[in-house]
Amino acid sequence: MPRLRDLPWRATRDPWHVLVSEVMLQQTQARRVVPVFERFVRAWPDPAACAAAPLGELLSAWQGLGYPRRCRNLHEAAKVVVERHGGAVPAVLEELEALPGVGGYTARAVLAFAHGRDVGPVDVNVSRVLSRWAGEPLGRAAAQSRADAAVPQGRSWEWNQSMMDLGATVCTARATRCGECPVRAHCAWRGGPGDDPAAASAGASRAQARFEGSNRQARGRLLRAVVAAPVRDTDVAATMGLADDATRASALLAALRAEGLVTVVDGWCRLP
Ligand code: SF4
Repeated sequence: MPRLRDLPWRATRDPWHVLVSEVMLQQTQARRVVPVFERFVRAWPDPAACAAAPLGELLSAWQGLGYPRRCRNLHEAAKVVVERHGGAVPAVLEELEALPGVGGYTARAVLAFAHGRDVGPVDVNVSRVLSRWAGEPLGRAAAQSRADAAVPQGRSWEWNQSMMDLGATVCTARATRCGECPVRAHCAWRGGPGDDPAAASAGASRAQARFEGSNRQARGRLLRAVVAAPVRDTDVAATMGLADDATRASALLAALRAEGLVTVVDGWCRLP
């Protein structure tokens, strides 16, 4: 079995740091998360520090990760942790799932990687491995119950980290390296013949929508600009790359304001 990849969140059991890393990893590759994660937890080492920080500062630090709604949700989650849990990230599944931006996967990842609970977080990589291993497509509930049942008692951290790396490096969406796979003796599919069971599973990875020309790109341009300096409201469309489409720019700006990611005061668009 290849060794686990060396990643900074694997050197900590601090529940806040684990939560921060898991939120960052939700839609961003690990290599892009590493420097931002390190800066973020250095600046805001616990929920109380994060909750007290202005959202604008957090968004500045979030640059490079994309999907800034996650940053706002993390800020809101920090406030809930301070207000309802005395500043300590909870160790109860339902309480974790009640935090803004925290779903079943992230909640279980915190339980497994910070609190050492015997649960199996199922991300897209783990879902793929589980369905190939089972030799059949798995729905969400079936994958979750298999993931939970597979965890060797008391070894949740090592097991789940290994499952994630297996899916990221050996049993990937594009190829399988079954010859060096540690579970090949128990795997029902082993690379075929026959259709890949992972393709029809609930957690199958879907092709990402095109970025060029997307709303995501336009929003990202504006956010990058306001992190550097306020932008005149009359320049917003051009900053988004939508000088010819003021209606779309205005709708995107309205959405960003409604999400609390930017404000417009006295004709200037700026960070909250
Ligand atoms: S044996 Fe092959 S298909 Fe099965 S889990 Fe390992 S890499 Fe994936």
